[in-house]
Amino acid sequence: MHPISETPNAAAQTLFPLQALLLVKVLVALLWAVVLAAAPLMLADKWFPSSLLMLTGFVLFAALMAARRNRARLAGWLILAPMITCVFVLIAVGKGPLDEAMLTLPGLMMFASLFGNRRVYVSLLLAIAVLLGALALWHFQGWHVLPVSRVYPDTFATVIVILSATSYYVWLMASALRKTLAELETENERVRASLARIEVLAHHDALTGLPNRILARDRFERASTHAARNQTSAALLYLDIDNFKTVNDSLGHAAGDALLCDVAARLVKAVRAEDTVSRQGGDEFLIVVGDITDEDAVASIAVNIVETLARPFQINGLGVTATCSLGVAMYPGNGTDYDTLRKHADLAMYQAKEAGRNAFRFFDEEMNTNVVEHLHLISAMRSALANNEFHLHYQPQFSLADERIVGAEALLRWQHPEMGLIPPARFIPLAERSGLIVEIGAWVLQEACRQAKAWQADGLGDLVIAVNVSPVQLRRDGLEEALRSSLARVDLPAHYIGLELTESMLLADSRPLRDKLARLRAMGLHLSIDDFGTGYSNLSYLKQFDVESLKVDQSFVRRMASNNNDEGIVRAIVQIADSLKLDAVAEGIEDAQTLQNLNAMGCRFGQGFHWSPALPPDEFLRFVQERA
Ligand code: C2E
Ligand code: MG
Ligand code: MG
Repeated sequence: MHPISETPNAAAQTLFPLQALLLVKVLVALLWAVVLAAAPLMLADKWFPSSLLMLTGFVLFAALMAARRNRARLAGWLILAPMITCVFVLIAVGKGPLDEAMLTLPGLMMFASLFGNRRVYVSLLLAIAVLLGALALWHFQGWHVLPVSRVYPDTFATVIVILSATSYYVWLMASALRKTLAELETENERVRASLARIEVLAHHDALTGLPNRILARDRFERASTHAARNQTSAALLYLDIDNFKTVNDSLGHAAGDALLCDVAARLVKAVRAEDTVSRQGGDEFLIVVGDITDEDAVASIAVNIVETLARPFQINGLGVTATCSLGVAMYPGNGTDYDTLRKHADLAMYQAKEAGRNAFRFFDEEMNTNVVEHLHLISAMRSALANNEFHLHYQPQFSLADERIVGAEALLRWQHPEMGLIPPARFIPLAERSGLIVEIGAWVLQEACRQAKAWQADGLGDLVIAVNVSPVQLRRDGLEEALRSSLARVDLPAHYIGLELTESMLLADSRPLRDKLARLRAMGLHLSIDDFGTGYSNLSYLKQFDVESLKVDQSFVRRMASNNNDEGIVRAIVQIADSLKLDAVAEGIEDAQTLQNLNAMGCRFGQGFHWSPALPPDEFLRFVQERA
């Protein structure tokens, strides 16, 4: 028999919280009742019933202890079994159906209905009927005559009927109560589950499941408090995926999301279990590292992260490279509050990006100064266009076999009235980051077209002017329009202009990008891939895009005479170009030996200081005319 719960297994030992509370209260009340009932019996020297009651009291006390320890099943038995025994004995040895102990039976029935199941309740009712029946039999057979005068056979029957009717009513009430409690409990469970879900949502990123900004801040507070107490350090690592936008734009948002989830999973594995990886939004992650004794420990975590992410990811069956740049700020060395440290880690991350990406940097105070300088440069750039501070210089490009000039690369120069000549490596990344490159790039196109047309008038012939196009420009929609209007303005056929695109732009196969490049090709423009060899090793994209030439990055070409590895790389790129029926253009040719080697490899075009650096237009004109 299972006195407490409807469910017959052991797990059903628990009661609803309200039931458990009731059980404890009932037990306390019963204990008082037993004590109050036993006391006058003791005073009246009625030792048998009073000792029986005292014994019951002890058992009830044990039941109370069991109930308090959540052992509902045991508590139920400890109440029902001795109570029933005690009451039955009192009735049997007392006045039978007219005994005062009969008054406790409805209470017991109520208890069985509330805390037991149907079987307990029916068994108890039957036990009472059997006891009264047996007593009636004993009494009227004369085996055990009850010490009462007015007891008839129908007295027993009436008592049984009254008890059954009352307890049936109690049963119905108790069932209704139990049902309501069960419903309430289910509802409570649902509310608890939603609260838990809200709690998770409020503190976690919905896409990756990582802690969000709020939780990251909280974890940092804990880590820094711990570090302060133990005189150790903590660190914030700010991470940005280098080419996330390219993946997102070219493969679509679903692929971008998949990449973020994969990155999140790798990051969690790359750090220690006690560190917190959080997503700050977009492709930015913040890692809280606590309890460290020196920078070396953080450096080894950072190395681990950079290396882990450098392995290619499989997204939609494509191998995608998603390297990261990482900035580290240390507590308490680089700041003591979260906001300062986060800002410093962010700054250090930008430094890592500027240092060529796929790297990490520790924050140092100089970086703060750099930011101010960058802001200053960006604001100066805004007015530079209007003040005519930008100029284009032209570096001649040659056919290597006969050293004939076939074109020129337009390279941007910024002549600032106070800061002097600012090299493109310093301001182009800032122009890209601030979006100013779109406006500046449009000016470059217009100026290059104007110059090309002017040189035609000067009789320079079929020179192709190559213009560098930033990924930011290519991604935006205005590029084609800017080209068309620049060409139309001076009535220049498109085949006099070439566009140099960087490898990273073409990382993944993307229909919109392919279509855009196809439209540019259809206009008649020449397309080449700049700085080839420095970006991604995934060569499959080369087949997807209709480009004409690969520009071998100058870093390999410059060193090829002195370094066998670089020579090997250049040779491989020339061969790749050849087998894909593309022209190889070597940039950075600085001496005759290199020129000779390139010629021997079959590289057809090139540019470099061997002939000339980029020149202002009038000098370029003279240069070409002198060689004619
Ligand atoms: P890039 O497109 O790879 O341009 C070639 C760079 O190599 C130029 O640097 C050029 O002066 C340099 N160079 C050429 N031959 C030699 C050589 O023999 N030895 C050495 N040491 N260097 C050589 P520059 O003009 O400083 O431009 C740097 C980068 O800035 C360019 O690299 C290009 O990515 C970017 N850039 C320049 N102008 C523009 C522009 O109008 N728009 C955009 N988006 N980027 C530009
Ligand atoms: Mg270039
Ligand atoms: Mg280049």
